[in-house]
Amino acid sequence: MTTAAQKQPAAGTEPLGHRQMIVDGRQVDAAAGARIEMLCPSDGEVFATIPRGGQEDVEKAVAAARRAFDEGPWPRMPPAERGRILMKLSALVAEHHEELSQLDARDVGKTIKSARGDVTVLSRYYEFYAGAADKTGGATIPLGNGFTAMTFREPHGVVGAIIPWNSPTQMTGRTSAPALAMGNTMVIKAAEDACLSALRIAELALEAGVPPGVLNVVTGIGEEAGAALSAHRDVDFITFTGSPEVGTLVQKAAADHHAAVTMELGGKSPQIFFADADLEAAIPVITNAIIVNSGQTCVAGSRLLVEESAWDNVVAAFAAKFNSLVTGPHDGDFDFGALINAKQQGRVLRFIERAKTNGIPILAEGKIAPEASPAGFFVPPVIFGPVPTDSELGREEVFGPVLSMIPFKDEAEAIRIANGTDYGLGAGVWTKDGGPALRVAHAVRSGQVYINAFGAGGGVELPFGGFKKSGHGREKGLEALHDFSTTKTIIINHG
Ligand code: NAP
Ligand code: MG
Repeated sequence: MTTAAQKQPAAGTEPLGHRQMIVDGRQVDAAAGARIEMLCPSDGEVFATIPRGGQEDVEKAVAAARRAFDEGPWPRMPPAERGRILMKLSALVAEHHEELSQLDARDVGKTIKSARGDVTVLSRYYEFYAGAADKTGGATIPLGNGFTAMTFREPHGVVGAIIPWNSPTQMTGRTSAPALAMGNTMVIKAAEDACLSALRIAELALEAGVPPGVLNVVTGIGEEAGAALSAHRDVDFITFTGSPEVGTLVQKAAADHHAAVTMELGGKSPQIFFADADLEAAIPVITNAIIVNSGQTCVAGSRLLVEESAWDNVVAAFAAKFNSLVTGPHDGDFDFGALINAKQQGRVLRFIERAKTNGIPILAEGKIAPEASPAGFFVPPVIFGPVPTDSELGREEVFGPVLSMIPFKDEAEAIRIANGTDYGLGAGVWTKDGGPALRVAHAVRSGQVYINAFGAGGGVELPFGGFKKSGHGREKGLEALHDFSTTKTIIINHG
């Protein structure tokens, strides 16, 4: 066992050796001693190992978080002081910006440019919630008759966060910054495929002054460490981001001990393009919304709904764009990187094969860079269209660089198609006319709707979450402070 304050080397091209979990302020291995090999998606080679944490490790982490909550200073200190510590963490993340970016790029396979963007957002998460920590006052409620009532936002206690591999830095910040700002303590179960940056962030948190036991990170396999965390009776609140299937399992486990949950379960987000919209302005934004992180984002704009009269023009413009896109290794200057692992690559390629077999036309296809390793998990970007709305590609989340183009006749049909999947996470509306823009934005059942945009910086300030199968609860923005806390009402009879 070593102390977490000991620095570990930055990523690069050298093997990183073994990284440990952070439990109760210390670097630890799994109790059973087992390890998992970490592959770099760009070449499929092992570059690090992590502990394969299990039940016993989760027990220790939750016990540490419980102690830190029940007896430690964190929930009791003045909120402004918690804010100052989180601000220091934001500054430390900024100081270690390149190290964290390199780590994430290599771990996830995303381009270094994209990883740098994620780390900037991570720093911003701690900054935003640091500033909010001491601004969470409650309400007074008029009762009369000699009563005074007031409400307080109180932390849940121990928060369990089960986060995915697609953006580990953003996901660590998105969950831990508001949870810690509200005075909770935490156990993060990072994804087995990409967790190195989460471990490093927990070290930086200790350096910033977050007390030991307040932010614990356990690594391991979902069915082992993740299941143990969601079933743990001492976990008061769970935030989960990942697939709807695992979300169901986590909710069932949480229900057994009545832990509240936030679920963020992906989407099939539509971009609705009217004939009057500015095509030149839309092309880079709509393209980025489906290729960023190789399409492995919950809010990927994976359906492009196009008004029939503009179909030929829009198809020609996007075909030219997609035919020029190149995917390649994370350390090169490419449009996007590899997928996370062979399983995900196979899953996406099978979606593409089934769509071809079913006769859905391919409108454009990008390339894999010639210098990319054949052992890397690359999938070139592809556009299918017209995609039948009731087909697999029209309804299911692919989680890859696959864009489904779908024509629509009028506003009413656009809304019907947009709402015609089980999901409702994000949407984009493209038109110069304010009337339809707002009507469609209101009619689409999604947590966020952009007009003539898709994404606004990191979106840290913007409440985020799903309708329907995309989940429930809200993260990001000031609303996250609400979800990561609960209301206490104090009523005084003073006569
Ligand atoms: P997943 O299985 O849902 O994984 C998400 C997280 O849950 C990971 O930390 C995972 O751990 C953990 N987990 C897995 N099984 C668990 C269990 N029984 N109990 C508790 N936690 C468990 O997602 P995936 O297999 O990585 O990806 C599959 C599909 O999910 C994707 O193709 C995509 O459609 C969707 N997805 C969506 C998002 C999103 O942002 N909405 C993110 C990721 C995936 P391990 O990874 O360590 O096993
Ligand atoms: Mg990895």
